[in-house]
Amino acid sequence: MSILQNLTEIRKNIPGNVQLVCVSKFHPESAIREAYACGERVFGESRVQELSAKQAQLMSDIQWHFIGHLQSNKIKYIVPFVSLIHGVDSFKLLKEINNQAYKAGRVVSCLLQIHIAQEETKFGFSADEIHEMLNHSEFPTLKNIEIRGLMGMATLTENKSQIRDEFRSLKHLFEELKKMSDDYKIAIEEGSTMVRIGSLIFGTREY
Ligand SMILES: *Cc1c(COP(=O)(O)O)cnc(C)c1O
Repeated sequence: MSILQNLTEIRKNIPGNVQLVCVSKFHPESAIREAYACGERVFGESRVQELSAKQAQLMSDIQWHFIGHLQSNKIKYIVPFVSLIHGVDSFKLLKEINNQAYKAGRVVSCLLQIHIAQEETKFGFSADEIHEMLNHSEFPTLKNIEIRGLMGMATLTENKSQIRDEFRSLKHLFEELKKMSDDYKIAIEEGSTMVRIGSLIFGTREY
């Protein structure tokens, strides 16, 4: 199957209000050019170095999303161009993104990662920790970040109802924060949502 065939199939299956993020990590620039030629503009990468290298080489109207686990010391490399950081999982990291974004003269959009899975190892805030951060006196001073929504990863399991429950808990928290978003510096969009898809578009990755 070609990338165009894969994308055609995927587009049939996602509603118009859902943003497709083409996860291009480990795939060559040629694959991204191909998906771009099919009309895709939003690409997700999980490694800072790979993202920076691809960004420097590829079309300037691509919206690059960082979807990996971001280390503080690497923020500065992506902040000048990144359009969305998917997995902000601590207040400390958010503050550092704000610092670097200030230096770069940008406002950087972020998703807060919420821990919804049963697994211990997954990163993310608990519901309590989110409230604590949003209520912190320092939070409104962060002028160079914009919270665009929440992100959560469900448990890797065959149990569909567990996955559904976990995503539902994320949706509940989202609705709760949306109600309060007038009071906070957050711009949570109505019904805004995204899916990250890699292998179904580009095939299997070679690590
Ligand atoms: C790699 C990755 C994906 C894409 O996974 P596929 O199984 O290839 O669709 C989605 N989300 C994150 C966070 C990833 O790192």
